[in-house]
Amino acid sequence: MTMQAVKTVLLIESDTEESRLIGKMFGNQGRYSFELTYAGSMQEGESYLADHAVDVVLLDLEMPGTVGQEAVRRIRKAAPRVSIVLLTAPERESAAILAMQEGAQDYLVKGQIETRELMRALRNAIERKVIEEALYKSKERAQVTLDCIGDAVVCTDLAGNISFLNPVAESMTGWSLQEAIGHPLAEILELVDATTRKTIPNPLEKAIAQDRVGGLPANCILIRRDRHELFIEDSVAPIHDRDGMVDGSVIVFRDVTVARALAAKIVHLAEHDSLTGLPNRLLLNDRLQQSIAHEQRHKGRIAVLFMDLDGFKHINDSLGHPSGDRLLQSVAMRIEECVRNPDTVSRQGGDEFIVLLHDVTGPADIAVVAGRILQAVEAIHTVDNHDLHVTTSIGVSLYPEDGLTAESLIRNADTAMYQAKENGRNRYRFFKPEMNVRAVERQSIEEDMRHALKHREFSLRYQPIVNIMSSAISGVEALIRWKHPTRGFIPPMEFIPVAEESGLILSIGSWVLREACTQAKAWLDAGLPSLTMAINVSAMQFQSDGFIEGLFAILDETGLDPQSIELEVTESVLMKHAGLAASVLQALRGRGVRVSVDDFGTGYSSLNYLRKFSLDALKIDQSFVREITKGSDDKALVTAIISMARSLRLQVIAEGVETSEELGFLKAEGCDEAQGYLFSRPLPAEQITLLLESRGSLQSMAP
Ligand code: C2E
Ligand code: MG
Ligand code: MG
Repeated sequence: MTMQAVKTVLLIESDTEESRLIGKMFGNQGRYSFELTYAGSMQEGESYLADHAVDVVLLDLEMPGTVGQEAVRRIRKAAPRVSIVLLTAPERESAAILAMQEGAQDYLVKGQIETRELMRALRNAIERKVIEEALYKSKERAQVTLDCIGDAVVCTDLAGNISFLNPVAESMTGWSLQEAIGHPLAEILELVDATTRKTIPNPLEKAIAQDRVGGLPANCILIRRDRHELFIEDSVAPIHDRDGMVDGSVIVFRDVTVARALAAKIVHLAEHDSLTGLPNRLLLNDRLQQSIAHEQRHKGRIAVLFMDLDGFKHINDSLGHPSGDRLLQSVAMRIEECVRNPDTVSRQGGDEFIVLLHDVTGPADIAVVAGRILQAVEAIHTVDNHDLHVTTSIGVSLYPEDGLTAESLIRNADTAMYQAKENGRNRYRFFKPEMNVRAVERQSIEEDMRHALKHREFSLRYQPIVNIMSSAISGVEALIRWKHPTRGFIPPMEFIPVAEESGLILSIGSWVLREACTQAKAWLDAGLPSLTMAINVSAMQFQSDGFIEGLFAILDETGLDPQSIELEVTESVLMKHAGLAASVLQALRGRGVRVSVDDFGTGYSSLNYLRKFSLDALKIDQSFVREITKGSDDKALVTAIISMARSLRLQVIAEGVETSEELGFLKAEGCDEAQGYLFSRPLPAEQITLLLESRGSLQSMAP
């Protein structure tokens, strides 16, 4: 059972007989149940309406004091939203029709009213009112919406002339509705493409012509009346009339200038390194892939330069991360200056950078750029009042020769970079397939070295160092040997660099120090002539925290006099981190430990620079010694080194002396000591013992 809605009806009728007749027609009448109230005069009706909610007024048009339209107007005034059904005399039907224009819903002719007709009129009046009300509300809602939404709404008629602008549209176009109305859309809404600056054809014309919702093209700019530009986006739809025919169109759009800028910023952040502002790994990969696709079609070449700073970690650790960061920024800028515009310099993270070179014709091109980068990076960086020196190692791979994918090109450039590091750093290397084998080897070496320490696979050989004038053995150099369980002896040049990279050198180095000191002490204790024990110290070891403390702990432990040892460090250790090196050297020599520069001549140091350090000796690299007998310039170089070293009061030791001819030259030039196969190969400790016991001096074995 459904509840019947009770509707209230006010009958305004001065004729009581008529009222009675009508009143009799009310009862429970179907869908609605009506509750009838009588008013005998206009005033009575009006005052009732003022206090009560009424659904329908049945109004006699001939009320005394007021007639026709005037009566309707008065009721409307008293109750603006009430439905009105008129009662009229048969001869006054035309007046009723006029009065309807004032907002009455219907009229009934007195004397002809039947119950059913009355009820239908009342029902219709109520229902029409409901519909009107709903329509009004939705129109009202639409208007409010259009006035308050953040989107701009512009409507045109079928001819494309403006028929409506909402307030947002007014402010975005710079036109008021009154000014704009009737003007062609193109005049009010000036649209251009952001990139081409070409006028965008009126999007509404298309929407109207094709009768469907369309969107504004991407990259659309609205030029406001004052020529200010806004990025806009959104959709355009045709408006239909009641018969479904296109009647005009509406375009809804919004200002996306800020949103676009924000989106662009987000994309930029996601694709760039925040420290240097360079493209990051993500963007580099993207660009590399694009370049590969491009070169696939155009049969061109691309180069990938993978670079890693040498010894950056140490700077970072010793000067602190903020300085490290500024150094990276400085390096980034220098690298960028070395390449052309279309090339990409990216930071991969840490101290790794990748440069992507386009349009390369061959290795010569790349060599020029790589050389330029090496030089640029190497020049002093002034960071927080420190003059920092840093170098980089570069590995190069080429598309298509060394790889067809971004991943393989980067991997192979990385492998080549490792090779550059192994070859002495501050240089570039082109990738070669055999490097991959080495890379794998390298990894297994690293794993095996960890075991080697535990399983005592390392040992030391000692190579005598001879005083050239007296032929007496003045010392020995401890040289490490690794007897790998399956691969046999692995030369130190193969595993020391790997140990340096992996940090294992710290454990290996301290093992060497302890072993060498123990041996030196044993020889002394055995009453053999005192010797200088020369021990190689790698860069990383020398620069590590606690190196000095560790060394002195070993000296204490073994009871060896600090003056019995001589540490061999390479030039690069001194040059790269001069400040740190100077203080370590001072501490060492303060305790009587001797220090020599190994492989002198292969690095970058000038003798002049060496003046700054407190040192004991230089070891001339064997490559120079080898040149002595070839009559090349290096012969003059050896002479120069010896005489300058003497002026600096440094001892000079020649390495790798193999022939008596070499020895003769060195002797004539005044070189102090020599070491090489001419006297002895590196030997196990027992053989050195025998040698010392027998003679304690070594004549050259040459005839
Ligand atoms: P180095 O310190 O310059 O050592 C001299 C190298 O020259 C040794 O090679 C030695 O065997 C070799 N040699 C000596 N006389 C001659 C000669 O007359 N002719 C030729 N052709 N070679 C000669 P080795 O033992 O293979 O060591 C190579 C390098 O490995 C060393 O160069 C040194 O830099 C490094 N190294 C060796 N032992 C250690 C160590 O315990 N710690 C560290 N950090 N590095 C070490
Ligand atoms: Mg050495
Ligand atoms: Mg050497």
